[in-house]
Amino acid sequence: MGAPPTRPADRAFTRPRRRPIAAVAALAVLLAVAAGVLAGISTPAPRPADAPEGDFSAARAFRNVEVIAAEPHVAGSAANDRVREHLVGTLRGLGLQTEVQDAVAPEAGQLSGAAGGATLARVRNVVARLPGTDPTGKVFLVSHYDSVQTGPGGNDDAAGTATILEVARALTTGPRPRNDVVFVLTDAEEACLCGAAGFAADHPLARDGGVVLNLEARGSTGPVIMFETSRDNAKLVEIFGRAAPHPVGTSFAVEIYRALPNDTDFTAFGDRKFAGLNSAYIDGGAIYHTPLDVPARMDRGSLQMHGDNALGLAREFGRTDLGDLRAGHDDTYFPVLGGLISYPGWLTLPLAVAALLAVGALGWLLRRRGRATAGTLAAGFGLTLVPVVVAPLGAWLLWAAITTIRPGYAELLDPYRPVAYRLAVVAFAAAVLFCWYALLRRRVGPAALAFGGLAWLAVFGVLLAVAVPGGAYLTTLPALAGALAGFAALATRRDGPWPVVAVTLAAAVAVVILLPPVVLLFPALGMGMGAVAALVAVLLGLAVLPVVDLLHPRAGGQRGLLALRARRLGALPAAAAALAAVVLAGVGLAVDRFDAEHPVPTHLMYALDAGTGKAAWLSREEKPQPWTDGYVDGRVSIADDFPGLGSTELRGGPATAAPLPAPKLDLLSDSTSGDQRVLRVRVTPQRQVRLLTLHVDTSTATVRSATVAGRDVPVEPGDGKWGFGVVFHAPPPEGVEVTLTLVPRGGAVSVRAMDASDGLSSVPGFRPRPEGVGVVGSHSSEMLAVARTYPL
Ligand SMILES: [Zn+2]
Repeated sequence: MGAPPTRPADRAFTRPRRRPIAAVAALAVLLAVAAGVLAGISTPAPRPADAPEGDFSAARAFRNVEVIAAEPHVAGSAANDRVREHLVGTLRGLGLQTEVQDAVAPEAGQLSGAAGGATLARVRNVVARLPGTDPTGKVFLVSHYDSVQTGPGGNDDAAGTATILEVARALTTGPRPRNDVVFVLTDAEEACLCGAAGFAADHPLARDGGVVLNLEARGSTGPVIMFETSRDNAKLVEIFGRAAPHPVGTSFAVEIYRALPNDTDFTAFGDRKFAGLNSAYIDGGAIYHTPLDVPARMDRGSLQMHGDNALGLAREFGRTDLGDLRAGHDDTYFPVLGGLISYPGWLTLPLAVAALLAVGALGWLLRRRGRATAGTLAAGFGLTLVPVVVAPLGAWLLWAAITTIRPGYAELLDPYRPVAYRLAVVAFAAAVLFCWYALLRRRVGPAALAFGGLAWLAVFGVLLAVAVPGGAYLTTLPALAGALAGFAALATRRDGPWPVVAVTLAAAVAVVILLPPVVLLFPALGMGMGAVAALVAVLLGLAVLPVVDLLHPRAGGQRGLLALRARRLGALPAAAAALAAVVLAGVGLAVDRFDAEHPVPTHLMYALDAGTGKAAWLSREEKPQPWTDGYVDGRVSIADDFPGLGSTELRGGPATAAPLPAPKLDLLSDSTSGDQRVLRVRVTPQRQVRLLTLHVDTSTATVRSATVAGRDVPVEPGDGKWGFGVVFHAPPPEGVEVTLTLVPRGGAVSVRAMDASDGLSSVPGFRPRPEGVGVVGSHSSEMLAVARTYPL
C-alpha cells in the first residue's frame, strides 16, 4: 500500500558497477574462508617415534595399537586376558600404581528394559594412578580395552587405550601434576558398559568423583570431535577451548548424539560427582565393529589429534583447581578456524529473538526503501520453504535410489568411500537452491528472497533455542549477521563497494558456522541420513543468497534478447550443480564397489535348542544378501525359543543340529515358605562362551526378587512368555549363581538357560564366506547360541 512501485533493478542489496569483479572477489573470499574452516577441523600430521618425550607421538602410540588390536578380544576371552596383561605391564613399567579391578558389575544405569533382560558382566578394569603433588581432585582418563567379538577393535577402542598409554608415558616424564591422574582402561564396554559402570559405582578411587575424559573411536579417520559434556559445562568448555590444541567440538553435537543409538563408557559417569568431556573420531564408519577394524586402517592423524587433545587436557585439568568446575550453566560452543567460540547458554533465546527482530526490521526497511513490497517479502518468505523441503527430500530419494542399485549399503553405517556421495548430496542441494533462485529472482526480487532466507534462519533459531538450544547458534548467528549486513548495505551507496563487502562478510560468518556441521554430519549420521546435511547445506545457501545473486546478471532492466541471455546465464549455476550431482553420484557408484577389501556386509547367527534338537540359522538383514539367502527365508518369531537374543523376530531358516551342550543348570537349594519359593541355581556353560542368559516363564511363576552373582537385579516384568530375564556377559567358567524368589502358579517353574559363543565355522552346514562377502559390525554377528528349558 504505502510502498511506491519499484523497478526490479532496484531490488537487490547490492548493485556494484563491476558485477563480475564483485562476484569473483566475493567468491574468492568465501572460498578462502571455507579452506580455513576445513583446515580448522582437519587432523594434524602424526608425530614420529623420535618426537620429544614430553610430546604425544602417534608413531609411539601406534605400537600399542598393534599389540592391543592383534586379534578380536571380547570381554572374557583369553585374547582379552593377554591385552590386559600388556596394559598392566606397560603402566607398571611407567612406575604407576596399577591394579586390576575384578568385579561383577551391572549395566550402566541398570537398564532392565535392555534386550534380553537385566544385564551384568564379570569385568576386569585396569586402573593406574599417578599421584598428584597437592591434589584438589582426580582426573580420570577413560577408554575401553575390550573389542567386539567380530573384530580386533583396531580403532574402537585401541585408539583410546593406546592414546592413554602414551599420555601416561608423557605425563610421567615431566614434573608431576598437582591433581591425581587416574588411568581407567575398562572392560566389557561393548557388551554393556559394565566395566565403566563397575568402576564409577564401586571403585574406591571413584568415590569422590572428578573430571572424566573419555576417548573413543567409531570409525577409522576424521577429526576428533568433543561431542558430549556433563551438565553445566561452561568451565569445562572454557578449559577445552584453551587447553586442547585442536578443539573441535560443538554444543550441537550433544543434541545429535542423544538422538543416535550409540552409547559409550561416559554414560556410566552420569553421577553428579563426575564432570567431563567425551571425544571420538567418527569418520570411516564402514569398518565400525567389523573384522576390518584393524590397526592398518587407522588414520594416524586422528590418533595424533586424540593424543594432542588428551595430553593437553590432562595437563590442564592436572593443574586446575577441580573444586569449582561446575559453572551454573551450559555453554553454546562451536569451532571457528582452529579455535573454539563459546557463550553462555542463557544467551541463546535472547539472541534468537534479537535475530528475529533484526530480520523483521530489515524487511520493514527494505519495503520502506522500495527494494521490496509487502507482497514480495511475503512471497520470499513463503517460497523459501521450497528448497528447505525439496533438498533434503531429494537427498533422501537419491540415497534410496543408490541403495536400490547397491542393496549392501543397507547394513553399512556409511559407504567405504563416501566422499563422492557426500559431494553429490551437497551439489544436489546447491542445484535445488540455484534453480529455485533463478526461477524466482526476477519475479520476487533478490532482496525479498534474501529476506526470506534470513527470516527462516531466524525462525529456526527461535525454534532451536526452545527445543535444541545447543544447536540454535547454527541459524541464529548467520541470520543476525545477514540482517546487520542488510542494514549496512542499505546505509551505504548501492553502486559503491561497501554493500558487497557487507554481504560478503555476512556470508563468511555463515560459512564459518554452517560449513563444519555440513562436513561433520555426514560421518555422524551416515548417508542414510544425508538429508540432514542437505538441509544444513541449504540453510548455508540461504544465508549467502546476496553473494549468489552476484553470480547472476543484473536483475531486471534488460529487454528482449538481452533479457533472454540474462535468464540463460542465470540458469548456469543450477545446471552446473545438477550436472555435478549426477556425475558425483555416478563416480560414487563406480569408486565404491564391493570387493575383497571392501566386502558387502552380511549377518548370520546360529541358534540351537539342545533340549529338542531344533536348530535354526538367523539373520537380522532386512533384504538378505545372496550369501545370507542361502541360509534364511522368511521372518520367524524367536521370542519363545531364544529370549536371550533380545529380538522377537528375525529372518530364519532350518539348520542341522550341532552336537553342542546347553548350559548346565544345577539346583543348589530349594525352599518354600508360605506362597514363596526360593530357588538357588548355578548356571554353568559347558563350552567357551561370551554370554549366558537365564529366563523364567512367567506363566509358571511370578518373580519377586532375584540375585545374580551376589548382586540384586531389577525384576520389572517384561513382555511375552519369558517375562523375567538376566543376561550375564563374560561368565566365569565355574558358572554364575542365581537366586530367584518367586511365587509359583502351581506346578513346576519353567526356566530357560542359553549361552552364546562366537564364530560359526564349526557348525555343520556352514560355508565360509567367499571373497567380497564380509560380516556386519554388530554385537550379534557370528553368534552361536545354545538354549535349553529346565523344569524346576
Ligand atoms: Zn565399540
